[in-house]
Amino acid sequence: MTKQATTYVYSFTEGDGKNRQLLGGKGANLCEMTQIGLNVPPGYTITTEACLSYLENDSTYPDGLMQEVKEQMVALENVTGKGFGDAHNPLLVSVRSGSAMSMPGMMDTILNLGMNSDTLQGEIEQTGDERFAYDAYRRFIQLFGKVALGIEDEYFDEPFEAIKKREGVKEDVGLSTDNLKEIATLFLEIVHAQTGRSFPEDPYEQLDLAIKAVLGSWSGKRAVDYRREFNITPDQANGTAVNICTMVFGNRGDDCATGVAFTRNPGTGENMFYGEYLVNAQGEDVVAGIRTPKPIAQMADEMPDLYRQLEELRSKLEKHYSEIQDFEFTIEKGILYCLQTRNGKMNTQAMVRTSVELVAEGLISEEEALMRIAPESLEQMLFPRLDPDADATPLAAGLPASPGAACGHVVFDADRAVAQKNNNDRPLILLREETKPEDIHGFFVSEAILTSRGGKTSHAAVVARGMGKPCVAGADGIEVDVMARRAHIGDVVIKEGDVITLDGTTGNVYLGVVDTVEAEFSEELKTLLSWADERARLKVMANADVPEDAERALKYGAMGIGLCRTERMFNAAERLPIVLEMIVADTLEQRQSALDRLLPIQRQDFIELFTTMSPNAVTVRLLDPPIHEFLPSENQLIDDLVQLKHLKDTMRGSEVLSATLSLLSAQNGVLKPIQQLADSSLVDEAIEKKEAILKKVRALFEVNPMLGHRGVRLGITFPEIYAMQIRAVLEAACECQKKGIEVHPEIMIPQVCTAEELRNIKVHVEKIRKEVQQAQGMDPSFKFGTMMEVVRACLRAEQLATEAEFFSFGTNDLTQATFSFSREDAENKFLPMYSEVGILQNNPFEVLDANGVGKLMELAVNWGRSVKPGMKIGICGEHGGHPASISFCHKIGLSYVSCSGPRVPIARLAAAQAALLDS
Ligand code: ADP
Ligand code: MG
Ligand code: MG
Repeated sequence: MTKQATTYVYSFTEGDGKNRQLLGGKGANLCEMTQIGLNVPPGYTITTEACLSYLENDSTYPDGLMQEVKEQMVALENVTGKGFGDAHNPLLVSVRSGSAMSMPGMMDTILNLGMNSDTLQGEIEQTGDERFAYDAYRRFIQLFGKVALGIEDEYFDEPFEAIKKREGVKEDVGLSTDNLKEIATLFLEIVHAQTGRSFPEDPYEQLDLAIKAVLGSWSGKRAVDYRREFNITPDQANGTAVNICTMVFGNRGDDCATGVAFTRNPGTGENMFYGEYLVNAQGEDVVAGIRTPKPIAQMADEMPDLYRQLEELRSKLEKHYSEIQDFEFTIEKGILYCLQTRNGKMNTQAMVRTSVELVAEGLISEEEALMRIAPESLEQMLFPRLDPDADATPLAAGLPASPGAACGHVVFDADRAVAQKNNNDRPLILLREETKPEDIHGFFVSEAILTSRGGKTSHAAVVARGMGKPCVAGADGIEVDVMARRAHIGDVVIKEGDVITLDGTTGNVYLGVVDTVEAEFSEELKTLLSWADERARLKVMANADVPEDAERALKYGAMGIGLCRTERMFNAAERLPIVLEMIVADTLEQRQSALDRLLPIQRQDFIELFTTMSPNAVTVRLLDPPIHEFLPSENQLIDDLVQLKHLKDTMRGSEVLSATLSLLSAQNGVLKPIQQLADSSLVDEAIEKKEAILKKVRALFEVNPMLGHRGVRLGITFPEIYAMQIRAVLEAACECQKKGIEVHPEIMIPQVCTAEELRNIKVHVEKIRKEVQQAQGMDPSFKFGTMMEVVRACLRAEQLATEAEFFSFGTNDLTQATFSFSREDAENKFLPMYSEVGILQNNPFEVLDANGVGKLMELAVNWGRSVKPGMKIGICGEHGGHPASISFCHKIGLSYVSCSGPRVPIARLAAAQAALLDS
C-alpha cells in the first residue's frame, strides 16, 4: 500500500475556500475570491498543518514542503510571465501570515520578497522608475531584516529619520532617488553589522527564511498573549497558514492607489460604502497612518472608472459571502486587485441593523440573522454608554458590576441622597464603601452606584443589576470617608456634590462629565427579537420586585415575572420601621399588629404588579432571607448606644450649667435654650429603643445565617408572616379579577427540602383561600409551587411534585449547595485561582455548571415530570440570563428562564439560538 503524501501547499486556484482551519481565514478567502473570478494576484497557501508540524519538530519543515513550494513558484512564474530572481523581469511576492481567527497585528507579513541587487535592476528596467525600485528595495531590506532576521526596528528607523532630517523632508515621499539609494546601502550595512553576514541575495533563501519567520510567529509572545487574552482555543485556530502572493504596487504613480473598505458602515450598519484610500501608496501606508487617507466617496470624482469597479467588487463580495465584508484593495496602473477580505467586525447596533436589512434584501434568512449575533453583545444596545468619541482618562477602576454609563454628583449616604434629590433634582451617584439593604432608598434616587469594596455579587452589584442601574464595585483605589463626606483617590479628593462619570460596562471611573449616548431599543432590534420569540421554545420571564421593574421588564419583552422577591418590597423607607416592629415584637399580638399594617401595602404592590403584567404569570416568592438582614448590625447598635450615653452625660452637665447660671444671674432669656436641650427624656427613649433592638439582634444571631432560620423555615415557625403574604396575593388577585383584569399569580415557597414543608404551608394557603373566597364571593386564581434550591429538593422531586404545581430552580443557592462553596468567600478567595490553574473552567456562579448542578436539575426535571407530565419548570437564578446556561436549560426541557429585566433581550435571542441549534 502506498502512503498518500499530505499536501501542504495549495494554489489560490485550487484551495478549499471553506476550510479556514486548514488555510487560515486570509488564505481561504484568497482561494475563494480567486475561484469566483475576482481579481486576486496569483499565489498559493502553505497550510496550518505544515505550521503545526514545523513547530512540533523543532522548527523543521515537514517532508516535501519545500518541493511543493518550488513547484508552486514555478507555476506562479508561468502565470505571471516573470521569473523569481530574474534580473530582467523579476517576480516579487509577499509572504503573509493568517490563521483561522483574525489576530490583527499579532503575526508577520513581508512584502517585496525576491528583491536583490540584480532584480533591483530588473525592476528599474520593467518600470522605468528608479526611485520606485529603490523605495521597494529599501522597504524590503527593512521589513525582511526585522521579521526574518530579527533586527530591532530602531536600527533602521534612526538612520532613516536622520537622513530625512538632514534633507529637511517630513514625509517619506519627499526623499529623492539618491537618498533612497543611500538608505538602501546603509540598510545592507546594518544587516551585515547586526547578523554578521551579508543580506541574503538568493530569492529562495529569502523565501525560506520568510516562511520560517511567519510560521514561528504563531508561537511568538505577542500571538500567544493575544490568544490567551481573547480565549482563542486550538479548535478555533491552530497554527498559521502562510500566503505567498504576487506583489502588486499601489505606489507606481497617480494611476495607482491602495485602500481598505467595509461594504457597509460598521459603526451604524447603514448600507453605505465605507472606507479610505491613498493615491500612489502601498497598503501598509494606510495602516501605519503615514499619510492621511481620503474617504472612499472621493474616489468617485478622482478615479470614476475604478470607483465603479470597486462598487462592483463591493456588491459581489456581499452577495457571495452574505455578510458584511472588510476588504483590502490595491490599484496598479489602473487595474484593481483585491488582496484580502473577511467578515466585517461591527458594533452591535450595526450587527442588528444589518441583520434585519440583509433579510429584507434576501441575502440571508431570518434564522441566519438570528444566529449572526452574539446574545451577550446586545447589552451594548440596552444601556447608555460612554460616547465612543469621548476622550477621557479613568481616575480609578473597579469591577464592571452592572452595565451602562452614568454621570452625576457624588453623595456618600442614602439619606443625604434622598434629601438632595428632594431639594434639588439633579443626577446623583451613590459612592459608598459597600452597600446594605438599608441603603436601598439611596439606590432609587441615584443614577449609578460606586463602591470601593465587594465583588460582582455584592449587594450593590446585585441590586443595581436588578434595577438596571450602572454599578462599579470594589474600586479599591478609592478611600471613602463618609463622616467627612469625602473620598480620596490617590491625590485627588472628591467632595460631596463633585461630578463623576462611571462606566459599569468596563468598571472605569472618571472625574467630571464624560459624554454618554442613550440606549436605543431600536425598531430593528424589536423586529429581530420578534423573530427570536417565534423560534424559541423557552419563555423568557423577568425577575422584578416592584412595579417599576415590571414596567421596564415588559418593555424588554418579558413574558411574565418569574421571580418577585417580596422582601425587596419591604425595603422602602416608609416600610422598614413597620418591618422592624414586626421583627422586634415580643408577642404574637404585637407582630400581628405590624403585619396588619403591612398587608394593605403588599396587597397594593401585588395589584400593581399583576395589573402591569396582565395576562402574564407573576411568581411571588414568599419571604426568604434571614430576618436579621432587616436589622442594623450589632456593632452599629453598640456604637450608637455609646454615643447616646455620652449625650445623656452631656445633658446632665448642661442641667448643672443651667442651675448654676440661674443662681448667678437672673437673665432667664439666655437660659431657655439650655434648659430645652436638657430635656433628657427623648434620649432615654432612644436608648431604650436601641437596647431593645440590640437584644433582638443578639437573640436572632445565627452562626451561619444563609443556612439558618430563613425561607420556609421562617414561614413555618412564624406562620403569621407567610399568612399575611398569601392573603395579600389572593386578595390582590380577586381585586384584579373584579376589574376584569386577567391575572395568574403563583405563590412560590423558598428553601424547601421536603414535601412535608409544602404540605404545612398548603394548610395555611387553603384556609386563607377559603376565607378570601367567602369574603370576596369569588375564587382567586393562583398556582402553588416551590423553589428548587436545596440539593435534597432535587433528589425528592417526585415527592415535591405531588404538592407543587411548578418548580423554579434557584441556581444561585443550588450552586452554593452543590459545591459547598459560599459564594462571597469563593469569589473573593479561591475562585480566581481555581480558574487560573484550570481546576474550574468558569465561575459556576456566572456560568451554570452543567455537569454538576445541571445534572441535579436534569434529574429533578425528569422525576418531577414523571409525576406531573408537562409540569411547568423554570430557572430564576442569575444564570437565567446567561446564554450558555440558557442553552443548557433548553436542552433539559425547562419551560422558561427568568432573569433581570435588562437581560431579557439577551435571553430571548439566546433561547432562539438554542432552539435553532437543536433543530
Ligand atoms: P495584515 O494581516 O496585518 O493585514 P497582510 O498580509 O494583509 O497583513 O499585509 C499587510 C499589508 O500589505 C496590507 O495592506 C496588504 O494589503 C499589503 N499586501 C499584502 N500582500 C500584498 C501584495 N501581494 N501586493 C500588494 N500589497 C500587499
Ligand atoms: Mg491584511
Ligand atoms: Mg435562594
